[in-house]
Amino acid sequence: MSLRTVDVFEERFAVRGKFEISRGARTEAVVVRVEIHDGDDVGQGECVPYARYGETPASVRQQIHAAAAFLETGGDRGLLQDVLPAGAARNALDCALWDLEARRRGVSAYELAGLERRAVQTLLTIGIDEPEEMARQAERGAPFGTLKLKVGSRDGLERDLERVRAVRGAAPDARIVVDANEGWSPHQVPAALEALAELGVALVEQPVPAGKDQKIGEIEHAVPLCADESFHTLEQLDFCAGRYEFVNLKLDKTGGLTHALEVVREAGDRGLSLMVGCMLSSSLAIAPALLVAQHAEVVDLDGPYLLAEDREPALGLGPTGSIDSNPGLWGG
Ligand SMILES: [Mg+2]
Repeated sequence: MSLRTVDVFEERFAVRGKFEISRGARTEAVVVRVEIHDGDDVGQGECVPYARYGETPASVRQQIHAAAAFLETGGDRGLLQDVLPAGAARNALDCALWDLEARRRGVSAYELAGLERRAVQTLLTIGIDEPEEMARQAERGAPFGTLKLKVGSRDGLERDLERVRAVRGAAPDARIVVDANEGWSPHQVPAALEALAELGVALVEQPVPAGKDQKIGEIEHAVPLCADESFHTLEQLDFCAGRYEFVNLKLDKTGGLTHALEVVREAGDRGLSLMVGCMLSSSLAIAPALLVAQHAEVVDLDGPYLLAEDREPALGLGPTGSIDSNPGLWGG
């Protein structure tokens, strides 16, 4: 049996300008990258530790180190699902194992997953800002086709509606997704949805905090709703069906591509549509998500577009949101 080794790196990427959501502003993306070496082959994967889910870069690195012995003695993707819980650490290792397997077998990850390699079109995210500034960004971002507006700021629902109105004025033909990141109260939701429906908003993401959405299925959804913070893995699918129309699938929540592909199959059975999302991350975190994107109605994989500088090599990022895979980066 060949000897494997696992290396772990913490890396930082500056954000272009700043990026603000309901929980605060960010000026850099902090990611953890793993390399799994097996003879002359190397597979790599990237994850984003997320404080909202109790993760730090240190805790994720520690989880990866703890699982390294299992991988170094030949543990595979299937068994990895039982060794680590769903989350960022498992995501980096799972994606590195996909990359490694593709390279060892001389095929692409797409072929391993039974998919065809093809480009996907991502939306563009606009962080919380003054309505006029969000409108300026919307005008520039309109060629992406779909714009995702971050709202849920502490300055209140009325101000959020001003933001959406300003963006709609600047990008009259854009498909608009609004993400409150748990920023509203349940009692605000009916009026918010009614106003957003009038502005032609296509989808509203996570209006209220996870745990406060038990009754969200009982109100009228003038705009379809998508669960993000309320949805991590297969375990929450039954909860989300009947309460939401969409779930936002992110590899850092599912703990990798392996579990994500299971969610794709099961969500469809429950009548849930898919958004595929990402954290603030480089091209390496996005590459495996491109496989899931083929099944998604809404593709939110613009992490690298929000960075001042991506890693090298990177995915092929078109100027208006078309993303091409790069075999030299990930997935063979
Ligand atoms: Mg979200």
